[in-house]
Amino acid sequence: MNWEDVPGLLDRLADVWPGYRVRAGQRQMARAVGHAMDSGLNLLVEGGTGVGKSVAYLLPAALSALEDDRRTLIATSHKHLQDQLSSQDLPRIDALVRDLGYPGLVWTTIKGLPNYLCRVALDSEQERADPHPQTPAVAAWAAAAGHSGEFDELPFVIPGDLRARLSTEAEECPHERCPRYGDCFAMAAMRRAKAAPIVITNHALLALHVAAAGRLLPGPFANVVVDEAHAFEDAATRAYGFECSSYALRRLLYHEITSKMADGALLRAAQAALAHLDLAVAGRLGLATAARRGSTPAEESSPDGLDALGSRHDIEAMPGPALTSPSAGRAMLDAPLVSGRDLADLLDTLATALDPDQQPIGDRYPYEKSPFELDAAAMAQLTEAEAAMLRAGKRATSLADRLRTICAVSDPLLVYYAETAGPPGAGLRGYTLLALPLAVGPFLEAWWEEQATILTSATLSDGHSFSFFSERLGLSGPRKLLVPSPFDYPGRTRLVVTPVPGQDKGDAAYFNRLADQIARLMDAAGGKCLLLFTSHRALEAVWSRLSIMRIAGWKLYRQGDGTQAALLGTLRHGAPDERIAMFASRSWWQGVDLPGMRLVVLDKLPFPQLGDPLVAARNAEIERLEGHAFRLYMLPLALIAFRQGFGRLMRTERDFGAVAVCDARLTTRQYGARFLESLPEGIPVLGSSDELRAWVRSMSAA
Ligand code: SF4
Repeated sequence: MNWEDVPGLLDRLADVWPGYRVRAGQRQMARAVGHAMDSGLNLLVEGGTGVGKSVAYLLPAALSALEDDRRTLIATSHKHLQDQLSSQDLPRIDALVRDLGYPGLVWTTIKGLPNYLCRVALDSEQERADPHPQTPAVAAWAAAAGHSGEFDELPFVIPGDLRARLSTEAEECPHERCPRYGDCFAMAAMRRAKAAPIVITNHALLALHVAAAGRLLPGPFANVVVDEAHAFEDAATRAYGFECSSYALRRLLYHEITSKMADGALLRAAQAALAHLDLAVAGRLGLATAARRGSTPAEESSPDGLDALGSRHDIEAMPGPALTSPSAGRAMLDAPLVSGRDLADLLDTLATALDPDQQPIGDRYPYEKSPFELDAAAMAQLTEAEAAMLRAGKRATSLADRLRTICAVSDPLLVYYAETAGPPGAGLRGYTLLALPLAVGPFLEAWWEEQATILTSATLSDGHSFSFFSERLGLSGPRKLLVPSPFDYPGRTRLVVTPVPGQDKGDAAYFNRLADQIARLMDAAGGKCLLLFTSHRALEAVWSRLSIMRIAGWKLYRQGDGTQAALLGTLRHGAPDERIAMFASRSWWQGVDLPGMRLVVLDKLPFPQLGDPLVAARNAEIERLEGHAFRLYMLPLALIAFRQGFGRLMRTERDFGAVAVCDARLTTRQYGARFLESLPEGIPVLGSSDELRAWVRSMSAA
């Protein structure tokens, strides 16, 4: 394939895609992606909003498959981009290649096993004495045709607890030995993926695939595209780390392992060990359980509150006994948790007892073989009851392994901490124990050499350099390309700098001023507003003030008041000049595509939270090795997050509006200039809501 021809082929998209407009940046990116795929090199592409990045990598991927029989794996961070690739972009590329005389293109989407209904789990739920009331409806849906078994396709909402019970993790699944293997939804998706030259997945599954030495997904893939790549470090951190939640432990010991399956005394001993762990973790978090308030939190002291705590083991009220605390939080684990190790030993004993073959399960299904390499014929099929037992046993083994690793607190390259669940200040419902790597670059660097990898996003750099991103991901010597947005930022956007005094105090007076300022900005913009906060606390403080004020004619929405999909749908339907304001925090700073915004407000510069143990540990490690953690870690992360937040404004070339920043540091600190320089060139700066009002009026009248 002569990749210099790719731009010309892109131009022909107009024949099959009404309204398609040729974009110079897209042509440039497509040519670079084609050369990278051809030569097996790694390429970083930062493409501004409007470049059309997905088409720029999909056409080379399609041609690589059709011309050279090379398969491509594409991973994105957000589901809506997966849906866009699968249902909008690839059908257009398919129409183009057919028009060019090639046969049709085949593609599919694959997600992690827990995204699919597990038929063994459904059978187990149906056989329970007290199945969840929605179980018959789920069973009827499972029996119907026309869906892939993904929970996202369920036509009704089920609680997260039921969804967790009806799904299976990869390491718990018996694969070919399962009696439902033939009609398993997840295995059908895997078979489709094995046959498809283009496979779409999410960051989490790609990262797990890399961590499992490429045995999780049906490869080989000659090309890998990581879109929204600025978020991939987080996925890799989770994949190379260890997590164990009180919810998962409780679900296993009070719901999945029944007294029919296991020795009652052994099960009760594990339940008691879990109660010991609850108390120990509560102590580490500086909390008291309702039963132990005022007592010594030392882990190995007599668990004198156990009876009271045990009585709270109401399974329908999972994820766990209520812990009481003035605020939710996190605590570093700096010494081993002996009670966790004890529980891990009991889980291993339970797992062995649950194995139909009475062998240690870990000896038979470690990850040394891919599910695609297993010899189905050589495997005795399990009965339904055996499959349920094996699944529970493998879950016990998996939790035991994770718990043992975390509770040992022994690896200096891992960051160990406990995290409470639930919103700050609420009665706490459970906790998660984590051990996450300080850095993922060393784990990934060998993998980058195995195929051509294209990493792309609207924000991979600090506006100029890719060094921070490359180093964090262990990429050495990738090719780099910066493709600016084709949008008219100087003509159609404004930056409004309206600092609110008292930010460092963060007291009630500050939030009063912040709410007043935001109300003035909203009034001046007079249309759809996205209010982005760096913390839930700030969001709630401003929300409570503005919703009491009941600004005339405004509809206010808040993150969490409905699903994100429903809120996005409401906001998308609103016209640009409709008075709608959406209050959101960190998760809406990126990946949200809402055309027609008149105003995006950023309450603060989005520095990582120092209270996050992973951030604190990474800072400390950088200080120890190189010094200057603020310059080398905090500032680059904040710049990327700032550019993401700014990017919520212009989603189409017809949009116009302003981004307002209420943080004085933008102009008072030396590093403020770095934030200003990271934005597209030439955006005029306004200093007040009155100036904003005048500009919006002039744009609306134009
Ligand atoms: S193979 Fe069996 S246990 Fe595994 S996900 Fe499918 S139905 Fe569930």
